[in-house]
Amino acid sequence: MSKPESVVVIGGGAAGLWSAWSLAEAGFKVTVLDAAKAGSGASFGNLGWICPAQAGPLPEPGIVVHGFRDMFKRNAALSFTIPAIIRMAPWILGFVLKSNKRDYDRGLRALSELGYPSFELIDRAGLGEYCDKSGVLAIARKRDDVQHFVDKLAPLIELGQAPPGPVLSGDAVQKVDPIAPKGYSGVEVGDHWQIDPPVYNAALIERVKAMGVKIIEDQPVLGFDATKGKVRAAKTAQDTFEADYFVIAAGAKTSSSLSRGLGYPIPVVEGKGYSIDVEPTLMPKQAIYTLDTHLGLSPIGNRMRIAGIMEFSNRTKRVTQSRVEAMKRATREIIGPWKSESPAWVGVRPVAPDGLPLIGRLAPGSNALVATGYAMLGMTISPAAGAALASAIINGDDGSSGPFSPQRFRLRRPKPVKA
Ligand SMILES: Cc1cc2nc3c(=O)[nH]c(=O)nc-3n(C[C@H](O)[C@H](O)[C@H](O)COP(=O)(O)OP(=O)(O)OC[C@H]3O[C@@H](n4cnc5c(N)ncnc54)[C@H](O)[C@@H]3O)c2cc1C
Repeated sequence: MSKPESVVVIGGGAAGLWSAWSLAEAGFKVTVLDAAKAGSGASFGNLGWICPAQAGPLPEPGIVVHGFRDMFKRNAALSFTIPAIIRMAPWILGFVLKSNKRDYDRGLRALSELGYPSFELIDRAGLGEYCDKSGVLAIARKRDDVQHFVDKLAPLIELGQAPPGPVLSGDAVQKVDPIAPKGYSGVEVGDHWQIDPPVYNAALIERVKAMGVKIIEDQPVLGFDATKGKVRAAKTAQDTFEADYFVIAAGAKTSSSLSRGLGYPIPVVEGKGYSIDVEPTLMPKQAIYTLDTHLGLSPIGNRMRIAGIMEFSNRTKRVTQSRVEAMKRATREIIGPWKSESPAWVGVRPVAPDGLPLIGRLAPGSNALVATGYAMLGMTISPAAGAALASAIINGDDGSSGPFSPQRFRLRRPKPVKA
C-alpha cells in the first residue's frame, strides 16, 4: 500500500476541523495547527444555527442604501466605522458592486446548494446527537416583513429545502411560542438545527482525533517555506511542518499574512459580531429570528443566547458597548427583562466582498488551498465546505472556476504553479 498523502490544515475552527474530517475520511494524514486552542475563534461564541435556509450572501439589493444610511446608528445590523471605510475602500467597492439582485440570487443558490448536505454530514460524523432539531420561528411586527422573508426562501424550496409553514398572525404566533410579543406575525422554518458551539466543537475535535488527525495548539503559523507557489512546509516559532498539501483555514486571519505571504492575497476582512448569554424569565421553545432587528435568540442549555451585528471596524477585538446595549434593548422589547447575563463575547467572521466562501487552490497546480470566507454561515456550511475542499484535492481541481474559486477576485489569472 502506498504511503498516504499528508495535509497540514492551518486553523482549527469550524472550517479547519471539518476540512480535516473530510480529508481524514478520504485517507489523508492530517495535522491541524492552531494559533490558540482549536474551536476558540469565531466558532466559539456564535449563535450555533445550522440553517441553510438562511443562506443568502451579505451583499443584497438595498443593503448599501440601508447600510450607509444607518451607519452611525447603534442599533444598525450592519455598520462601518470611518477608519474601516478608509482601510477597506477596495473591499467596499467590491461589496457595493455585488449588492444587486442578480448576484444575490446566484449567491443564494450557490450557498444553499453548498450548505444543504451539511445536515447529512453532521449525522454521518455522529454529531447529530449534539443538534436540537426543533426549527426556528422568524417574527416581525409587520406581517408583510414575514411574507417578504418567506418569499426570499422560494428559490431554496426549488432546490429541495423543506417549505416553511404558513405565515401566522395574532394568537397563532404565541401558540407556537409564548415568548413572541402580542401583535407579532411569524413563520416556522423547519430546516434548522441548533448547536451549543463549544460542546459541538469539542465533540468534533474528539471525532477527528479518533480518525488519526493530529491537533497541535498554541502554535501560530508564521509563514511558509515555498518556491513559486509550491509550498514545502509551514513554519511556526517552534517547528517546521512538511506536507504534500496545505489548507489555510485561519478564519479572518487567512489573508493577512498567510495567503498574502505566498503571493496570493485574498480580500477577506473581519466582520465583528457579538453574543450575550442571559437567563430569561421565560425560555424560547426554539430559536427565534427577529426580522425587525436581525437578531437571533437561541435556547442553549439553561441560557438564552442573543447574537447578531455585522460591524466593520479596525478594532476587531474591542466590544463596542453601545452596540451591545442596543442589542439588549431590542431583545428586552421582545422578551422583557432577564434575571442575569454574561459579559458580551465578540467574534470576527471572515467575509469576502461578494459574501461567498473561498474553497480550493490559490493558483492552478499549487499545493496551497484555502477554506475561508464563511461569513455568517460558518457553522452551517463548514461540513459541506470541508467535503468540497477535500474533493478539490482529490480531483486535482485547479480552483480557477466556480462560485467559490479563491482566484475569482484576481484581475489576471494566476500563473499555473509548475510541479
Ligand atoms: C456573533 C456571531 C454569530 C454567529 N452565528 C452563526 C450561526 O448561528 N450559524 C452559522 O453558521 N455561523 C454563525 N456565525 C459565523 C461563524 O461563527 C463563522 O463563520 C465561523 O466560525 C468561521 O469559522 P472559521 O473556522 O473560518 O474561523 P474561526 O472559528 O475564527 O477559526 C479560525 C482559527 O484559525 C486560527 N488561526 C488564526 N491565525 C492562525 C495562524 N497564523 N496559525 C494557526 N492558526 C491560526 C485561530 O486561532 C482560530 O482557531 C456567527 C458569527 C458571529 C461572530
